[in-house]
Amino acid sequence: MTHQAFEPKQHIQWDADYVVIGTGAGGAAAASELARGGAEVVMVEAGPWRDPSDYPASVYGSFRDLFDRWGTTVTRGKAIWPIIQGSCVGGSTVINSAIVVRTPGDIFDQWQREHGVGGDVLAERVWAHQDRIEEELFVETTRPDRLGRSSELAAAAAQKMGIEGHLMRRSVKDCLGSAGCLQGCRHGKKQSTNLQWVPEVLARGGSILSCAPVQRIVMEGRRAAGVEGRFRHPRSRRKGGCFTVRARKGVLVAASSTHTPCILQRSGIKSSALGYGFRAHPGCAIPGVYPDPVGMDFGATQGWASVEFRKTPGYKLETLNLPLELAAVRLKGGGSALMERIEELPRMGVWVAACRANSSGRVTNSFGGRPAVHYIMDQADMHRLRDGLKKTAELHFEMGATHVLPGIQGLPYKLTADELHRFDSVSTSPKAYTVIISHLFGGAVMGADPKTSFCDGSGKAYGYDGLYIADAALLPTNLGVNPQHTIMAMARVVAEDILEHNS
Ligand SMILES: Cc1cc2nc3c(=O)[nH]c(=O)nc-3n(C[C@H](O)[C@H](O)[C@H](O)COP(=O)(O)OP(=O)(O)OC[C@H]3O[C@@H](n4cnc5c(N)ncnc54)[C@H](O)[C@@H]3O)c2cc1C
Ligand code: SF4
Repeated sequence: MTHQAFEPKQHIQWDADYVVIGTGAGGAAAASELARGGAEVVMVEAGPWRDPSDYPASVYGSFRDLFDRWGTTVTRGKAIWPIIQGSCVGGSTVINSAIVVRTPGDIFDQWQREHGVGGDVLAERVWAHQDRIEEELFVETTRPDRLGRSSELAAAAAQKMGIEGHLMRRSVKDCLGSAGCLQGCRHGKKQSTNLQWVPEVLARGGSILSCAPVQRIVMEGRRAAGVEGRFRHPRSRRKGGCFTVRARKGVLVAASSTHTPCILQRSGIKSSALGYGFRAHPGCAIPGVYPDPVGMDFGATQGWASVEFRKTPGYKLETLNLPLELAAVRLKGGGSALMERIEELPRMGVWVAACRANSSGRVTNSFGGRPAVHYIMDQADMHRLRDGLKKTAELHFEMGATHVLPGIQGLPYKLTADELHRFDSVSTSPKAYTVIISHLFGGAVMGADPKTSFCDGSGKAYGYDGLYIADAALLPTNLGVNPQHTIMAMARVVAEDILEHNS
């Protein structure tokens, strides 16, 4: 087992059967499958290696050490919406809420209908992998004594309103309900890929470079022959020595929907589909303030959800326990007015509506390797989002919230139950909404037609040898449910097919 972290001066040169770029949901799932098949794998990860005991205690520290570019990537278009992702060994699985949702059957039909890949055969393969992944990652339904009051309230509200909902299934082992998943689980309970599959790859003879952003894929003609880049210091971001990893059999790109297309573009890879098909589940939070304490500091970070509206009109509802620093960004004003609002925090429960948006965008490579994400939600999607937010507010009022904080320009800071109708006439301009994007899809999508797809249904790039996509970038649609389980299983399918064809 070899782990090479930041190297200030020397040129590190390694070789392996396969190089996997990125160690998040897709990269680690693919790397572990390859290693189990007997292949020698080197994982190359832009972010640092952090053990749970080293995760920073503060939100500021986690943005600095675990998040991609301190969380500063934003959409370019009519509105500036933050795009949040992890950048560390384990990728976004380190900072996510550990929610595990199996790929809905209608997704495979949609992929087959619209992109010529998928159908029953892929569905059976993905679900078989998901069975195994659930065992490997200790997936369980959130225990009632770890749910927390915010999720209990949401579950009761949905029941009263006749809305179907469920307790989240999560990849956690003896979760303490500390509500801290978004800063990385310092208790080591969340089964992120840095704790599960990355160590397994190393134990099977693989290696990893961390603090090692790949600048480009080395091409020999139309064959992917390795990767190269320069180490980046985890704190100062100063550049260090160079690294080159040669790949005898292939390069798997799994650097996320924003970075995967950029690496391919920087490497001179040509495809009319490259960068296109970026999709998301843009989400907005509606905090509800109650007469009694809610206590967002206890419970599964996200414990309850409803997918009743996933197909029509197209949104998902869920709870989200936020720490003071993140919840406070929604509190307006300063001085004594702000202090009064902060005093409401213990009585606040934050619930989210995430839109299953049909809009699609494009990712291009920008200055300094930064992805430029051109994405605007169209009016039909904005109406869906607005409907979802109104439904979220209704749920809060059903349980006796005194007011909600809509965070929508054109509505007052506080909204009471008798003002609910004001959601119907408020602007649907994207600029008016406080949106965050954390579920990303596409950018190098799979499909049957090389003109509209970057890779085939096995993740193999059209027109190139030894080049594969193994992350969210290959998903040709969004899902309407949390994506990590689908990404992991699809990455396993890609790796399985590689082993079959290259052995
Ligand atoms: C706050 C938050 C909460 C979420 N909660 C959930 C949840 O509970 N359940 C769920 O299903 N989904 C959740 N998601 C989404 C889920 O985590 C992602 O969809 C999933 O991790 C994406 O997998 P990926 O492999 O495409 O990318 P990632 O997991 O983001 O991994 C990409 C990796 O590539 C690395 N990389 C980037 N560029 C380079 C480069 N040039 N060289 C080398 N490495 C590079 C990155 O540093 C990163 O480690 C959440 C996401 C966020 C941000
Ligand atoms: S809720 Fe707390 S203990 Fe449970 S997985 Fe998340 S951070 Fe870890």
